[in-house]
Amino acid sequence: MKWLVNRSNAPVITLLYHRVTRLESDPQQLSVTPENFRAQMRYLKDNFLLVRLDADWSGVDRPSVAVTFDDGYADNVNEALPILEEYGIPSTFFISTGFVDSHTEFWWDDLDRILLNKVHLPVRYTLDTGNEVREWPTKSAAERAQLYRLLHVLIKNLPPEQREQQMAQLRAWADVTEQGRTSHRVATLDELKRLAQSELVTIGGHTVTHTRLSILSADRQHEEITASMRQLETWSGRQVTVFSYPFGSRDDFTPETIEICRQAGLLRAVANIPGQYHRWNDPYQIPRNLVRNWELPMFRRKCAGFWLS
Ligand SMILES: [Zn+2]
Repeated sequence: MKWLVNRSNAPVITLLYHRVTRLESDPQQLSVTPENFRAQMRYLKDNFLLVRLDADWSGVDRPSVAVTFDDGYADNVNEALPILEEYGIPSTFFISTGFVDSHTEFWWDDLDRILLNKVHLPVRYTLDTGNEVREWPTKSAAERAQLYRLLHVLIKNLPPEQREQQMAQLRAWADVTEQGRTSHRVATLDELKRLAQSELVTIGGHTVTHTRLSILSADRQHEEITASMRQLETWSGRQVTVFSYPFGSRDDFTPETIEICRQAGLLRAVANIPGQYHRWNDPYQIPRNLVRNWELPMFRRKCAGFWLS
C-alpha cells in the first residue's frame, strides 16, 4: 500500500554515495564510475524534485530525492562535484574531520591496499588481539582475502586507539609505510574548502575518527560529534546542522547517540538503512539507500524499488 501513502504524502528518498571514480580494486563496492554517476544524475534531474538534505521538506509535494556522500574522499571534489554542478543538483557531503589533509588511507582501504593488492607478503600473519594470539596463512590470494574479511570485522569493532595499533601491526608485517595511494586519497583542506564554497553543497558531520558510535561512551560520542561539527564550521564558515552516523546500521548508533545529536543542535541525522522519509518519521534516523556502480537501466529499476519499498 506504499503507493497509496506516497500519493497523499510525497516522501523524500535519500541516496548514499561514497566515491565517484574508476577503481581497479573495490571490495566494498563504494565507487561509482563518472560515466554511471553522470547518467544517474541526469536521470534524477529529469524525473524528480532534487532537495537539499538541510532544507525544509514540509512543502514537498512530489517525489523528491536528496543526494548525499559519506567520508570525504578527494574524488568527491574532483569527479563528483563537476557533474553535480553540470546538472545543478544539490548534495550533502559528510566528512570525517580527522582524515582531511592526511596522507594515510581510511583503514578499510589500507586493508585492501595491503592484503588484496600487495604482491609480496610474509606467508603467515600473527593476529594479536590482546586477548588471544592466532596464526593465519597468507600465501594464496584466497587466504589473504579471508584475512581481509576477518580483519574488516575485527577492526570495525575497535575504538580508535586499538584500531590504530592493529593497523600499525599489519603495516609493519607487510613492510609498508603509512603513505596511502593517490587513488584512495582523502580530500585536502583546500579541496574541502572548495567543495564547501559551492552553492549546491551542504557540509555535514561524520565524526572525527569514523568509529562506530555505539561502542563508545556517551562522553566520547559527544566529543566525536561536536568536535567534528566545530571543526567543519571553522573550515567552511557555515553552520553544521546535519550528521551521518559512521557505518549507519541500526546497531552502529544508539538512542543516546540520537539524544546527543539533538542536544548538539543538529536538525537531521542520517542512517544507512534503506527506506523512505515521510514527515512523521524520526528526523534523527533518516533512511538512506546505498547506490552501487549501476548502469542506467539498473539504476532506474532500483529507483522504482526505492519508491515502493
Ligand atoms: Zn562513513
